[in-house]
Amino acid sequence: MKKGFVYLVGAGPGRADLITVRGAEILKSADCVLCDKLANSALLRFARKDTELLHVPKRTAEGGSTQDEINRLIVEKALAGKTVVRLKGGDPCIFGRASHELDVLSKAGIGFEIVPGVTAGVGMAAYTGIMLTDKEYSSQVMFVTGHEATGRQDTAIDWDVLGKFGGTIVFYMGIGNLDSIAQRLIDNGMPEDTPAALVANATFPTQRLVKASLSTLKHQCERQKVEPPALVVIGAVADSDDQMNWFMKKTLFGKNIVVTRDAAGNADFAGKIINSGGNPVEFATIRIESRTDSSEFLQAMANFSQYDWIIFTSGNGAMTVFKALDGLGKDARAFGSAKVAAIGSATAGKLAGFGIKADLVPDVFTGRELGMQLLGFANLRDKKVLLLRSAIASNELVDVLAEGGAQVDNVAVYTAAEVKNDTSSLVESLGEGTIDWVTFASPSSVDGFFGQVPTGAVNSSKAKVASIGPVTSGRLKELGVKVEVTAAAHTIDGLLDSIEQEESHNGFS
Ligand code: SAH
Repeated sequence: MKKGFVYLVGAGPGRADLITVRGAEILKSADCVLCDKLANSALLRFARKDTELLHVPKRTAEGGSTQDEINRLIVEKALAGKTVVRLKGGDPCIFGRASHELDVLSKAGIGFEIVPGVTAGVGMAAYTGIMLTDKEYSSQVMFVTGHEATGRQDTAIDWDVLGKFGGTIVFYMGIGNLDSIAQRLIDNGMPEDTPAALVANATFPTQRLVKASLSTLKHQCERQKVEPPALVVIGAVADSDDQMNWFMKKTLFGKNIVVTRDAAGNADFAGKIINSGGNPVEFATIRIESRTDSSEFLQAMANFSQYDWIIFTSGNGAMTVFKALDGLGKDARAFGSAKVAAIGSATAGKLAGFGIKADLVPDVFTGRELGMQLLGFANLRDKKVLLLRSAIASNELVDVLAEGGAQVDNVAVYTAAEVKNDTSSLVESLGEGTIDWVTFASPSSVDGFFGQVPTGAVNSSKAKVASIGPVTSGRLKELGVKVEVTAAAHTIDGLLDSIEQEESHNGFS
């Protein structure tokens, strides 16, 4: 059998989109991914659905060390002919134990490539504004393991050089040894008041930054209960200007925001929240289930081109319909010369991705308004209109169009099935006051969410509720949930804008 190939890929410092373009490309081709504890598992979205995922290090069988077990796994998968990606936090060549793995591969005659990544120390610098070098303050930088700073006498670290270094020192794996790191540096001549900083969870929305002096850093970190992974920066640059810390100044930085759509919708929303500095807490309440195998749909599809107007009311509708077309070897030409309406720019965007430019994109969000706009735009008397939408959509739109004289076929292409979750950790976080926002993008996610979480858990917490529009807010109010924000523009971007506005308003009050 032909041997496989192994890519040692740097996952970057934390945030998923800080991986390199090459790293993401290679993930797409992987048959098997062995994922490090520090590599962001959100990166696995770049991999194919059928890719085998192994999280390592994992508990090992008696006798073998974790590293031996990982080596054995990589070799086994590669010898089975697979393209293996070994995904490592940061850069594989910095405190990454890459040489152990490469040595085993080379002995087994297995080909490999190393893909660099942004190491945590470099990511940390960008995401705090703490420069590693600075024309005025530091012309040299050192990356050092803090792991060896314990009382060990056989350390390979030259503390004498470090104590007199005078540039920037970044300690990896140092949070557990802050005391001895500081002591050894001071013993070797570094002034006690040398600026120092600790950065935990660098580049994540949960990033923490503690600034102190060399002798007080440990105490400050304990007081603020900072946890690993963390880097320690020592040198004049650590006393950086807070104005440079662009990331932690973002409006939603550190805000925990619950997203309650279906898994794909949540992932999309979560990405936007991360871009705004927030921390998404994913809690899927619904699952989009296709209904395109119904005879009703298949019949409508065979006659798409006979309709005067075809109306898509959501991105989910567009996606399920095009998936069904694709499965039957068809494409956008199935619509012939039928005109297409898409509710909202997000739906139009999805259709555009499938090669359909909508003829009408009303930005309205109730069935009645939409019907009125369509009737205002085109005379639909005796015209054939096809609605492709959710099985649980209301009849309002059908009624308005029928009143306008249209011959309406209403075909369900998907439905939102409820998803049950373990609610305990969310309810606990609400109780502890660590959730800042709970967001709702549709009445069905309101029902899905409060079918599982008691309304009291939200109402009595400090979390605020944000809704995408009046229909969703209406459903929340019916259930007795206090709605803080109803988005002005009824899209996910609009929802996020409204939350940001509310937060920046609070910031200035
Ligand atoms: N190869 C990795 C380092 C692995 S050693 C790289 O190039 O980044 C593990 C150490 O990296 C942790 O103990 C911590 O000191 C540091 N580290 C990794 N990710 C981090 C993060 N997001 N924030 C702070 N420190 C991080």
